[in-house]
Amino acid sequence: MCFGEYMIYKGSNLYNMSSCETIELFYNIRTDLDKLNIASEITKIINDVTNENQNSYKILRLYLNTLYIISEKEKNLKLVLATFKLKLISILGFMPEIKKCTECKSEENLRYFSLKSNGFKCETCGAVDKSSIKMQNGTKDAIRYTILSPIEKLYSFNIPEEIIRELDLISKLYFNEKIEN
Ligand SMILES: [Zn+2]
Repeated sequence: MCFGEYMIYKGSNLYNMSSCETIELFYNIRTDLDKLNIASEITKIINDVTNENQNSYKILRLYLNTLYIISEKEKNLKLVLATFKLKLISILGFMPEIKKCTECKSEENLRYFSLKSNGFKCETCGAVDKSSIKMQNGTKDAIRYTILSPIEKLYSFNIPEEIIRELDLISKLYFNEKIEN
């Protein structure tokens, strides 16, 4: 897992590399097994959602920023993974509705996240949606922050363990619902 600049030229069938220069090594990832696990999972996801010769600049920025945080900071890794997944899925075109209920458009009592309706639902509408997950206010705020924040400020928040658990569950299920199926 290192970021570099590569000079390549096109041969008859393959690309040939003439030089390469390392820009960032993310050294601490290779000295900590937990960090390495999360970084590997993130790298696998990035491989799955990107294609060769496709402009993926925004995804690259998210990826590099995430590797930097994993390597250099001591953040809760479950929180990093959940935040990463939510941001990535938004970049890929599945930005959830985070202002109002996806059903009745109410901005009050948003207590659920609906996997099928792609976003928040109010207490009444969420209660009858089998794909919706109940969330606390702290989770709602964390989701809003993740969606709205610029990539360079994405990881500058901390939340209690129980909110991390909810965020982790929602991001995992929403990601699987949109990407893996
Ligand atoms: Zn509603």
